[in-house]
Amino acid sequence: MSRKKIVAANWKMNLTQEEGNHLVQGILSGLPADVNCEVVIAAPFLFTAELVQHLKGTPVMPAAQNCYPAPSGAYTGEISADMLKKAGVKFCITGHSERRMVFHESNGFIKEKTEAILKAGMTPIFCCGESLEIREKNEQNSFVQKQLEESLFHFDGTVMRDIVIAYEPIWAIGTGVTASPEQAQEMHAFIRALLTDKYGQEVGNAVRILYGGSVKADNAEVLFNQPDVDGGLVGGASLDADNFLAIITAGN
Ligand code: PEP
Repeated sequence: MSRKKIVAANWKMNLTQEEGNHLVQGILSGLPADVNCEVVIAAPFLFTAELVQHLKGTPVMPAAQNCYPAPSGAYTGEISADMLKKAGVKFCITGHSERRMVFHESNGFIKEKTEAILKAGMTPIFCCGESLEIREKNEQNSFVQKQLEESLFHFDGTVMRDIVIAYEPIWAIGTGVTASPEQAQEMHAFIRALLTDKYGQEVGNAVRILYGGSVKADNAEVLFNQPDVDGGLVGGASLDADNFLAIITAGN
């Protein structure tokens, strides 16, 4: 079964609106005419409305980096999934390791956010992945399994098949150290086997599993060519149009 690849940019807390506009123009003007993968940009909230406008009528889809699970109310500083959906956002990242570590988000809270994203009608990009300490103890599989079980595995198969999973080993995020293609494939195959075990072959084959962690123009192709790697979630290298375009080409 062939799964459509996704190349998703995560700008994190970078770029002014002016710089963001410039970057989006650069990406749109260099986009291959035959773009065959799904291209997604997750910008800071401030840029959401403009991003949605810029991407209208293009094959690139707007995303958010976060949301709050409650529908509305006294949550100063937060933004709901429904607000994002109504603003035209299609995807929302959840479970990113920076939110888990810096903002102490638990598997239970990420579960609630994922539910809110789905309820609003967006596609979650659910991030999972282990620290270096866990990998050195060779406990990465059970660690990632627990993240999936506690945040996602209560969904039924019809919901699960449309969730995008991003495997992002923490030791590779923003460090310049990339998982080897073999390490990425091994974990992606493990995640797919868990999905197949729980939901059956059809769902196991359908779920897109992205790799994230220092994806760059010069390593994207070999990573994306692994049988269970369905594209990438790209931080640092997505902040430069030429680099991001080269990664899109690798996913095409
Ligand atoms: C990310 O932000 O999800 C990420 C993978 O960052 P980087 O590509 O910079 O490692």
